Amino acid sequence: MSASVEIVCTRDAEGFTRVYAAAPAQLPPAARCAHCGDEHALVRERITAAGGLVGCVSCGHPELYTLKEFPRKLGISIVVVAALLAPFTYYASLFVAAALDAALYALAPNMVMCYVCHGAHRGFAPTPKHPRFDREIDERLKFGARAVMGKPMRPGGTAGAPEPEH
Ligand SMILES: [Zn+2]
Ligand SMILES: [Zn+2]
Repeated sequence: MSASVEIVCTRDAEGFTRVYAAAPAQLPPAARCAHCGDEHALVRERITAAGGLVGCVSCGHPELYTLKEFPRKLGISIVVVAALLAPFTYYASLFVAAALDAALYALAPNMVMCYVCHGAHRGFAPTPKHPRFDREIDERLKFGARAVMGKPMRPGGTAGAPEPEH
């Protein structure tokens, strides 16, 4: 399985460049930004020997979250088609759509996202595991000291952290 990381342009936070490699360890130390043409460094120290992540390869931040890469558009299309077919199939199409949706979700690969730069990491080793999105971490990073729900960062970031309770 190949690995890829989205590096975020240091001049324009909206500019993502996806960098591919055969394996996480083979990602280059820097890559040409598709937006500004500059070389942006990859933070390769954040990749473990086993190809896992202890932080963001784009910006180096140690807090990441795991997200299912669900093909949302495909999911919506399935529901729309099922709804259109419903009157002709005695609504069986809706059940088929629900099953198809569930299967798609189960098969969808995980990607690991950075809270700070929103760069996506794909094809890295599953350990250390980063829990799903945690609103408290997001708030603290966005609003700093003003965050209502902010908790200080766990030592070592989110690597191997428990899933959020909320
Ligand atoms: Zn750039
Ligand atoms: Zn980042």
